[in-house]
Amino acid sequence: MKKTKFIFVTGGVLSSLGKGLAAASIGALLKARGLNVSIQKLDPYLNLDPGTMSPFQHGEVFVTDDGAETDLDLGHYERYLGVAMSRKNTYTAGRIYTQVLNKERQGKYLGGTVQVIPHVTDEVKAAIRSIAAPDLDVALVEIGGTIGDIEGLPFLEAIRQLKNDLGKNRCLYIHLTLVPYLKTSGELKSKPTQHSVKELRSIGIQPDIIMCRSEDTLTPELKRKIALFCDVPKDAVFSAIDVENIYQVPLEFNREGIDTKVARLLRFKGEPDVTPWVQLNERLENLKNEVSIGLVGKYVALGESYKSLHEALTHGGLDNQVQVKIRHINAEELKPHNLGKYLGGLDGILIPGGFGDRGIEGMLLAARYAREKKRPFFGICLGMQCLVIEFARHVCGIIEATSEEFNPKAKDKIIYLMANWYDHRARRHEKRDSNSALGGTMRLGSYPCCLSTGTLAYQAYKKLEIQERHRHRFEFNKAYQEVLAGHGLKFCGLSPDQTLIEMVELPIEDHPWYLGCQFHPEFKSTPMNPHPLFRDFIKTALAKKVSKKRLS
Ligand code: GLN
Repeated sequence: MKKTKFIFVTGGVLSSLGKGLAAASIGALLKARGLNVSIQKLDPYLNLDPGTMSPFQHGEVFVTDDGAETDLDLGHYERYLGVAMSRKNTYTAGRIYTQVLNKERQGKYLGGTVQVIPHVTDEVKAAIRSIAAPDLDVALVEIGGTIGDIEGLPFLEAIRQLKNDLGKNRCLYIHLTLVPYLKTSGELKSKPTQHSVKELRSIGIQPDIIMCRSEDTLTPELKRKIALFCDVPKDAVFSAIDVENIYQVPLEFNREGIDTKVARLLRFKGEPDVTPWVQLNERLENLKNEVSIGLVGKYVALGESYKSLHEALTHGGLDNQVQVKIRHINAEELKPHNLGKYLGGLDGILIPGGFGDRGIEGMLLAARYAREKKRPFFGICLGMQCLVIEFARHVCGIIEATSEEFNPKAKDKIIYLMANWYDHRARRHEKRDSNSALGGTMRLGSYPCCLSTGTLAYQAYKKLEIQERHRHRFEFNKAYQEVLAGHGLKFCGLSPDQTLIEMVELPIEDHPWYLGCQFHPEFKSTPMNPHPLFRDFIKTALAKKVSKKRLS
């Protein structure tokens, strides 16, 4: 039986250094050696999960098959490893403390005083060890936050202790820092790295490998200096330079020899086969055309809010050899008189998921514009809800059509909170989202959906049953299905028991590509395996291209 080895990834100097991408890239390179790899994220904040956090604050909430609402780094892990993550792959301090406090209430500590060490740290260690499995060669564990944060200390103490619990040969510590470039002196500076490692060592963790994020490659001399001050061999200091696209990172790390060093330290044999990554990058560098896609949403000011969506659009472009230019359009700025200005030059329009009623009228205008001007249109979750509301209002004449979310007292709630949702879930024996902050009313995680043949949906998937991930409270109200269908809307994807409408579209005779889905397909797209809906959306946007610019 294999004993899973662990690689702990910490970050220093400042946040947003791309620790998640670094961990995912190392994971991808180890997988390229034929190893079985998993990754876990430990976040030191006190929320139970990011489910309730504003996308403005925290970026996208990534959803796993088993319905965990997680940090967007889990999206990177899935995209780089091609392996589905689960609730076990993510813990926050809030969740750890809750588990400890529950045990305390249940009397599990037998009257003892409950303390950070050993009770909280034991809980962290148990969480980390829970991903070990007989067939798992290596698990990367990324510690969120930056060295020096007060709330990160129990996690760091736990990973320090694990070295003794598991044995030196099964643990490796990688520290990612920043080596800034100082314009005035024209130099890369190592001091912040020295301080960060000093801080790490003061809590008992000696890094085995130091990775230095920098604009430029570190000179051998600078690497020697960092090695000397941080007490590591000089071949354990690596540059992690800024790259143009995130899928170059694994190849860049491989060129630097990072994975070779990791493999040597953890005694993994063999060579990596990076051909798929080389091919992916060749394809990315040889895109022949360009399409312009408008993303009409509420959180457009912050790129991180739609991380998976951006990636899925890029993947869809890859399959069509086309570069996808994403234009962020703040839905609140759209007005009937300025639609041509904002939407006129777009090859496709996408309305992403979202919560609340802000910007809804703008989204409805965009959905109508795309329908009437026959522009490829993709409505995801809230986007599908806008699609059906717009269709009900302007095609079926149900002028007060809306969602219960925007107006709970409305007459025509085309989108509503299913009254028997609890019974429905009880029938399915669901318990999994009882932790959801919204009182368990969210539909979270993977659900089956049956497709009708002869539809855009079927054409994309070429399957009768698919599984996609959800994160929403409201559903299409089936009382309106007949009237909308009578006016030409196709209900192309339904839950197997036909109670839930999962996908709708316009017939191909009426519109080149106008489709909405209640789920979030972007969560399952990977660069090696682009999602069929994004592929077909971009394909049609290219075929119907209105924007001018071509790549030579
Ligand atoms: N706010 C809508 C709902 O809860 C849509 C959610 C979403 O787009 N993720 O049903």
